[in-house]
Amino acid sequence: MPTTSTDLYSNKTAMNKNNLPEIVLRKGKEESLDRFHPWVFSGAIASLPEDVEEGEVVAVIAHDGRLIGVGHYQIGSIAVRMLDFADTVIDKGFFVERLNDALRMRKALRLDRPDNNAYRLVHGEGDFLPGLIIDIYGTTAVVQAHSPGMHYCREVIALALTEMDGIEIANVYYKSETTLPFKAQLDPRNDYLIGGFDTNVATENGLQFHIDWLKGQKTGFFVDQRDNRAMLERFSAGRNVLNMFCYTGGFSVYALRGGAKRVVSVDSSAKAIALTTANVGLNFPDDTRHQAVAEDAFKYLDTMGNGEFDLIVLDPPAFAKHRTALKNALRGYQRLNYKAFEKIAPGGILFTFSCSQAVSREQFRLAVFSAAAQSRRRVRILHQLTQPADHPVSIYHPEGEYLKGLILYVE
Ligand code: SAH
Repeated sequence: MPTTSTDLYSNKTAMNKNNLPEIVLRKGKEESLDRFHPWVFSGAIASLPEDVEEGEVVAVIAHDGRLIGVGHYQIGSIAVRMLDFADTVIDKGFFVERLNDALRMRKALRLDRPDNNAYRLVHGEGDFLPGLIIDIYGTTAVVQAHSPGMHYCREVIALALTEMDGIEIANVYYKSETTLPFKAQLDPRNDYLIGGFDTNVATENGLQFHIDWLKGQKTGFFVDQRDNRAMLERFSAGRNVLNMFCYTGGFSVYALRGGAKRVVSVDSSAKAIALTTANVGLNFPDDTRHQAVAEDAFKYLDTMGNGEFDLIVLDPPAFAKHRTALKNALRGYQRLNYKAFEKIAPGGILFTFSCSQAVSREQFRLAVFSAAAQSRRRVRILHQLTQPADHPVSIYHPEGEYLKGLILYVE
């Protein structure tokens, strides 16, 4: 979107005033960009300068010479990630403006409160900053670049974070060792770009969590399950809860606050189990209702008692990281959910999720449906869940929707 105008078509006659390298599209390939889809696929390109470098800001030009906008160039099937649909200069001012837009929205959602200081500030395309993820934990911002272009902008982004209106950012930790394309050979170091110290404890809906951005998965915490954890709390009173794939124990802590009778957290990683135990201890010291088990999910579900749990959470890692793995992923979801349907107590509630972008909402629901039919239980859908509002989906980029969940009542 143009940053300075509400008229999306105001750039119809714009020129490449900033003399950026020009990427010219094949005839007709501007159509999806004219609908503000933020990606240029390599097959859409008619010509590009020989000396254009990966990560550079380029001007995207239609076949008829019209400037469409500017974006980050990358070698691969997505060749350009659009930053704006105008002849915009990509500098610190651009990032300050986009970050302030993002922060204003989070503040409107009331995510920045004394009892909640963990939230996603920038969700890539959903915040019109393709290739960039930023999570906030109190006064610390954890920045993840998914494109070489954003990697080269990291210092400017860090400075822009400290110049936002209405928030003090003291630490900026850059964590892109595993998120940048390996082939780009950028050799990114995980390190502080600004500051370097924080208490490591963040607050979500009044609950405390140790956030290990140095060694933890992703940015250290899965903020995307916040609303779904709050939903679980409402179903927890008096129930025996199994939190499968617990990682930091988020769902477990909410279940304990919701009055669960017993909570068992399971994860195959010993580190995750230690983190869960620490987080439960932070909020409910010496609470004998909780137990954490380092065990493979499928094994645990096979050996646990029939009817032992009447509230089960299944929040596995992405089974399909790419489209090629789709078939196996769907089989995996079916197998996992079947095991839960087989064992859950009558009147039980199942929270089941998929965070694979390659798996559609319909495909996931079909996998769960197949599992339910196989178990011959009577199953009803109570709620359909998705990612929270601080992980917005640009209406022009439906691919941004990734988290899918169902709350099921099992008789
Ligand atoms: N529910 C968590 C996020 C889950 S992330 C939250 O709300 O924050 C996925 C977790 O699954 C990771 O911690 C990983 O260690 C664990 N995991 C991966 N494969 C597993 C398996 N086969 N059995 C049990 N846990 C597994």
